[in-house]
Amino acid sequence: MNAETKMKIMQADQKQNGQTFKKLLLKKRIFEIFYKEGSKPIAEICELTSSSIPSVTQIMNEMTAEGWLMNVGIGKSKGGRKPALYDLNPEAGLISSIELSRKYSRLGLFNLHNEQLGDIVEIAEGLDTSESIIQTLKAELDALWKRNNVSKQDMLGLGVTVPGLIDIKTGVSYSYPQFGNKPLSEYFSEHFGLTAVIEHDTKAMAVGEAWFGLARDKSNVLFINIGSGIGLSIIINGQLYHGHSGFCGEFGHIQMDPEGDLCYCGKIGCLENIASGAALVKKSQELIEGGKSSIISNIVAKDTSRIKLKTIIDAANQGDLFAIELLEEAGEYLAKGISILIHLFNPEAIIIGGEMADAGNLITDPVRQKLNKYTMMRLKDDTSLLLSDLKERAGLLGTLPIVVNNVFTVKDGNTLLSC
Ligand SMILES: [Zn+2]
Repeated sequence: MNAETKMKIMQADQKQNGQTFKKLLLKKRIFEIFYKEGSKPIAEICELTSSSIPSVTQIMNEMTAEGWLMNVGIGKSKGGRKPALYDLNPEAGLISSIELSRKYSRLGLFNLHNEQLGDIVEIAEGLDTSESIIQTLKAELDALWKRNNVSKQDMLGLGVTVPGLIDIKTGVSYSYPQFGNKPLSEYFSEHFGLTAVIEHDTKAMAVGEAWFGLARDKSNVLFINIGSGIGLSIIINGQLYHGHSGFCGEFGHIQMDPEGDLCYCGKIGCLENIASGAALVKKSQELIEGGKSSIISNIVAKDTSRIKLKTIIDAANQGDLFAIELLEEAGEYLAKGISILIHLFNPEAIIIGGEMADAGNLITDPVRQKLNKYTMMRLKDDTSLLLSDLKERAGLLGTLPIVVNNVFTVKDGNTLLSC
């Protein structure tokens, strides 16, 4: 039974009512437990769902017949007979994932054990640089499926991360008019022929961190994505916070320098204009063209238009003083902003992710040092500053639980229940 057929059974179940609805809720809960925690015996599922052995056994038998679950061996005995262990069949449904950025895009293919199939495909085209980015993505996704001998029928869904402002109520992008007035999920579902779920890029990265990275087992975490821009995700009491309309986290657009340059958002002196990858690239280009000496010139063979944030980080990691000072200065302004966040949110951890995470101590040291200057000691000591270890995979991985949750979202009249 392929993923498409299994989902049709699920949708048919959803149309029924009463007893079936209750059963479906339990099915969703069981699926969720296996997806999140891995293999378990029936007795533990009964405990975790507060359900009887006969009802759990019946549903798990059904899920096994449909191909969602499989027997994966024998577990440890807790006194009596050793129990049979069950787990999700990793191939029961695959997830295609797309990370769309302003200047680049990434594609990945994953199974239900969150294992990556094949390579992460990197495309040097993004929303700001290509008008035909959707066609390019379709072609690359088809090629990725072919290389892995899978097809559309094997997919549970498509997860897409998009930058900019997305209205959480209407699902419409306010930053990219090319998607029209349609909810982004509809736009991508139509273009790719798959059920698509959309999340804002930095928020998806935070979901990735919460499920698979350093935010796992933490409840109050701030995630700062520093790439060409600067974004923030807020996890409060274990839940991703979206704000009134979904626009929260525009950390890059708080004013740091009233005398600063005009930002593309229309305001003056934004943090993003000073400490983002795009800002550091611009500054390094101006200074190097003005005669500043740095190994960056050698790395790009004197063609400053080729400088990227990665170039600056590579140079700094090789001990280049100019690049180290650029990062230090960015760190000072980031620390100013981060100290405001610590005073407001009292987070357990702040995770720095995105491309900037590759700078390691060269970015965290200056931030830490300046946090001493700007932050009340009691609050500062309560927060750990961490570097993401998922790095560029955080966004793609973050779409996986969102797609899985969407497949098993249960509709009962007007009530939408989700994980
Ligand atoms: Zn701005």
